[in-house]
Amino acid sequence: MALVPFDDRDGFIWLDGAMVPWREAKLHVLTHGLHYASGVFEGERAYAGNIFKLREHTERLHNSARILGFAIPWTSDEIDAACVQVLQANGQTDAYVRPVAWRGSEMMAVSAQNSKIHLAIATWAWPAMFADRMAGIRLDMAEWRRPHPQTAPTASKAAGLYMIGTLSKHAAEAKGFQDALMLDWRGRVAEATGANAFFVFDGELHTPTPDCFLDGITRRTVMALARVNQIKVVERVILPEEIAKADEVMVVGTGAEVTPVREIAGTMFTPGRITETLLTDYEKLVRMSPEDAAKRLAA
Ligand code: PMP
Repeated sequence: MALVPFDDRDGFIWLDGAMVPWREAKLHVLTHGLHYASGVFEGERAYAGNIFKLREHTERLHNSARILGFAIPWTSDEIDAACVQVLQANGQTDAYVRPVAWRGSEMMAVSAQNSKIHLAIATWAWPAMFADRMAGIRLDMAEWRRPHPQTAPTASKAAGLYMIGTLSKHAAEAKGFQDALMLDWRGRVAEATGANAFFVFDGELHTPTPDCFLDGITRRTVMALARVNQIKVVERVILPEEIAKADEVMVVGTGAEVTPVREIAGTMFTPGRITETLLTDYEKLVRMSPEDAAKRLAA
């Protein structure tokens, strides 16, 4: 399939308050966000016309910016409305939604106190991230490690944190894997390059404590779904030596949704009952109205 570059597509992008034709949503090469990674973003999915957990994503976007020392000059209500408007302008009901905020061109040095803050929102069709999802994906172990919270602003969904994600994913893909599992700076299991990880041990769902990586919105949703299904959830330190003892493994995220894992660097797993339950329940949940989804999670 030929690649259609992202800057050469039809549609509309919301840029700093205006809906602009897709190909005209441009910025200058001298932009602080590009040179110094002063950018934060979100990844959302719309299902059947509703953006799943929209307000949580918008609040995380604001919080990510706050952590990088800037304020996005639009309220959560305005950003939520803009996300919905872009979807409508692009005639989509099921799509990926990408808000991104960054420092502009006023200052081009490490210090950028007086830079203008920009916000853009684009949407595009994005079916399941991993085409062979039901079969499970193959993960390699990454060489890069998630940094200490004093080494990087790890609670922010900041562009700069994806440097090691891209490096790790490229290395894994070069060896025929779909993604990589990253350890943290202490050598504990952390997450995949764009998704959180879950392991089933003796019928319980275990996941690493998110103290130096994103506590994903899907992660929290899957934990709630597990509890509704009477599956015990344990958040704890997970060491790489334990991986081989897991009965099932999955990665979860807005893009990845619930994706079974069939291999981690030579150790094989068979997606089982708990993976199937969570995958099916997540697929149902995201297509419910926000009210019904909230009721389901409270059940
Ligand atoms: N970790 C990383 C590094 C991610 O990029 C993502 C995707 N945003 C996640 C975890 C999962 O987060 P969420 O469920 O909120 O999409």
